[in-house]
Amino acid sequence: MANNEEVFKKIISHAKEYGFIFPSSEIYDGMAAVYDYGQNGVELKNNIKAYWWKSMVQYHENIAGIDSAIFMHPTIWKASGHVDAFNDPLIDNKDSKKRYRADVLIEDHVAKIQDKINKEVDKAAARFGDAFNEQEFRSTNQRVLDNQAKIDAINKRFYKSLEKEDLADVKLLIEELGIVCPISGTRNWTDVRQFNLMFSTQMGSVSEDTNQIFLRPETAQGIFVNFLNVQKSGRMKIPFGIAQIGKAFRNEIVARQFIFRMREFEQMEMQYFVRPGEELKWFEYWKQERINWHLSLGIPQSKYHFHDHEKLAHYANAATDIEFEFPFGFKELEGIHSRTDFDLSAHQKHSGKKLQYFDPELNESYVPYVIETSIGLDRTFLAVLSYAFKEEKLEDGSERVVLNIPPVLAPVKIAVLPLVAKDGMPEKAREIMDVIKHDFMCRYEEKDSIGRRYRRQDAIGTPYCITIDTQTLEDNTVTIRERDTMKQDRISIEKISEIVGKRIKNL
Ligand code: ATP
Repeated sequence: MANNEEVFKKIISHAKEYGFIFPSSEIYDGMAAVYDYGQNGVELKNNIKAYWWKSMVQYHENIAGIDSAIFMHPTIWKASGHVDAFNDPLIDNKDSKKRYRADVLIEDHVAKIQDKINKEVDKAAARFGDAFNEQEFRSTNQRVLDNQAKIDAINKRFYKSLEKEDLADVKLLIEELGIVCPISGTRNWTDVRQFNLMFSTQMGSVSEDTNQIFLRPETAQGIFVNFLNVQKSGRMKIPFGIAQIGKAFRNEIVARQFIFRMREFEQMEMQYFVRPGEELKWFEYWKQERINWHLSLGIPQSKYHFHDHEKLAHYANAATDIEFEFPFGFKELEGIHSRTDFDLSAHQKHSGKKLQYFDPELNESYVPYVIETSIGLDRTFLAVLSYAFKEEKLEDGSERVVLNIPPVLAPVKIAVLPLVAKDGMPEKAREIMDVIKHDFMCRYEEKDSIGRRYRRQDAIGTPYCITIDTQTLEDNTVTIRERDTMKQDRISIEKISEIVGKRIKNL
């Protein structure tokens, strides 16, 4: 079986070949960590956005959507802490000249120790069968305990040195753990330095007073600064949420893993404003809601897990990540954070404007607490794509590449295919297409054999193909082929939209 790295490479080249994702500025040799979405990619991306928006805004009477500008007053980033603290610790290997995030090097080292523990547990599970008690094993097996102690000691030391901003100790830790550069294999490291991830630019013409502004590194602050506008104009009562989808920009140090870590990307964020003291209840609520959203796509539960943060940001009192099993392992897909009143209070202080809510039930005013759900649109795209990509051997010995994209997200829902491009079939197919295109994204194709056209639709994840043949001209029926099972049924033309609508699982 192909290993995960090979599969990942295949997914990347498939995404390009079938019009999902192109490297940005490709004819000029591309730009690191910037990508363009092609004709099928943009459909999938729009469908993910719509699916999220529907579940967050349309289905919650107390969540309103906004679309705030990318440019914002520079003081916003001072208040939010991004000017002073939106840094990553970077380190270079002097031999390979490659740059790394120091925290990622340490995390990867910890992950290797974790792997050893997992292997130990799997081995024991296989040996003891039904009688295996995992919790007991983890708390008594000496090798597991020793490795866990190693992990805890590394994490403790690392968090402590970061907190004290003792970057020399971070370097020392990397050296002591014997971490080598994956490229050069050496331990010849530079000092660790902090690097701010925000892109900056100027507003105003050069001759006038120029003002340094930032490209927003997250969409959340656009929500916070509009908190009162939405609350007042929408007469919102706490608890209520504000949702937004939009671009964010981060000058990532290490840009790799395709669209997992980009310098320009999109976030889908929701800030939920609650009474102080009730935040942990709502944190649990949103944790459950969000994992249910992921599972509603039909992707198995085993592909997801929660990773609770051990080290909390100074303003947070609870935080977890929903991690997804990408081809390169379990990594963050979405963050759920209990951010207390940190952001609203900071904006209140820096702007001099009150950002409070009068709670009629309590008869008092307060700065609300906030639960945030923040999911990367591009990472969701990659999660869906990498889950969907399958190379199948068929019963007749042939092979096909199919994208089992959840039908509700598929770029094209129905392909309309005349069996042959003559004898009135194309005309009939166009007639059908003109009707059903009002209900679904459809694609008409008449070139090549029907088998090849089915394969092309499988490769972009089209859940249904409608074929128009001689019988169609006689009795107004068509065949409908289902992507995953490849089963074909004969149905009447009037029923196409109804049947496909029913089969495309919606929220
Ligand atoms: P990471 O630790 O992977 O850098 P983060 O913890 O900095 O991520 P958040 O600030 O919590 O990420 O952002 C929320 C979400 O935005 C993430 O869960 C992720 O899905 C997405 N995201 C963050 N950075 C990027 C990026 N560079 N490219 C694509 N998506 C991103």
